[in-house]
Amino acid sequence: MKQRMETSLIHAGVRDGYANKKGAVNVPMYLSSTFHQESIDEFGEYDYARSGNPTRDALEKAVAELEGGVRAHAFSSGIAAVSAALMLLSQGDHIVMTEDVYGGTYRFVTKVLPRFGITHTFVDFTDLAAVEAAITPTTKLLYMETPSNPTLGITDIRGVVTLAKQHHCLTFLDNTFMTPLHQRPLELGVDVVIHSATKFLSGHSDIIAGLTVTADEKLGQDLYFIQNSFGNILGVQDSFTLLQNIKTTDVRFSRSAESAQKIAEFLAANPLVEQVYYPGLESHLGYDIHRSQCTSAGAVLSFRLPSYKAAKALVEAMKIPVFAVSLGGVESILSYPAKMSHAAMEPEERAKRGITDGLLRFSVGLEHVDDLIADFTQALEIAEKA
Ligand SMILES: *Cc1c(COP(=O)(O)O)cnc(C)c1O
Repeated sequence: MKQRMETSLIHAGVRDGYANKKGAVNVPMYLSSTFHQESIDEFGEYDYARSGNPTRDALEKAVAELEGGVRAHAFSSGIAAVSAALMLLSQGDHIVMTEDVYGGTYRFVTKVLPRFGITHTFVDFTDLAAVEAAITPTTKLLYMETPSNPTLGITDIRGVVTLAKQHHCLTFLDNTFMTPLHQRPLELGVDVVIHSATKFLSGHSDIIAGLTVTADEKLGQDLYFIQNSFGNILGVQDSFTLLQNIKTTDVRFSRSAESAQKIAEFLAANPLVEQVYYPGLESHLGYDIHRSQCTSAGAVLSFRLPSYKAAKALVEAMKIPVFAVSLGGVESILSYPAKMSHAAMEPEERAKRGITDGLLRFSVGLEHVDDLIADFTQALEIAEKA
């Protein structure tokens, strides 16, 4: 019987296998680095916990099931998952990557990979013709992030997958903003799905974690080899926490996305707000594409105030959200991309991506939406006078 995602979220990876022989409803934490072997010439399923641990295994099985893949791997951070996946490439390979990629991915691709002879071209992935034009004979990978950060740019996943097949490239997609609940890249032909599980999947601003998932057994084995060689595994306690928190992803994400829609509409109607970026607004660039490949507009939005002064006044006046980097937590998180996630980027590059001095990003948490709107209302009045 094919179960709905809400059901799989609760039970995936938990009931079967080594992880749980005693009937506990929660997968035990196997805090063990090594495993006793019964025989000198025949080893058991586990030998050393970098290579495999039953708690991490249960998490990886659950995530593979949720994404509709065959293999998943859990890493010590989202960036560890990104960099491990990029290690599938070799010297001489070229990457075509979305220009509004996550800052840490940008850093790895621009500062680390070139030392190993792996080159890149950044392109606006909302423009398929530009993506195709950037493909060279050595291009091995098209790298997507959709919706992207912080202006929620939408990539046509099917279009990029078609290009990749024509040019014999792999496709990776950072699915952090949508979760497996609402965007199913493997079903659209993407080769490797990547998550910063630090965000919505863990959802409580408690752990740093990353995931990769693939529908291809051979690619899965290659990723396992890299995970074991690199050693950037997710620890047992964090694997346990993530497995627990994943169970409530649907209720958390649905509520936050519902509130995000209301807040986006509220902000769009406020005269001080110059622009709202949210895939749930019909005015958003790529609205139709997003709807054709996702079942939610998500819980992150950005909006532009006229100046740095107005943005500063709003940040200082808001009482409910935390002002911080990161997103996807139960608490709403307000952040200032120009000085936070995109501080390392040159001002011209930031401007090209719409990251102006008045831009703020808001990750909607689980506070009551009317309280959040009331908070925005009073803070916008103050910002208007700034
Ligand atoms: C946060 C984030 C990452 C990096 O994940 P970490 O867990 O912080 O290493 C990668 N991609 C996106 C879209 C993110 O938001």
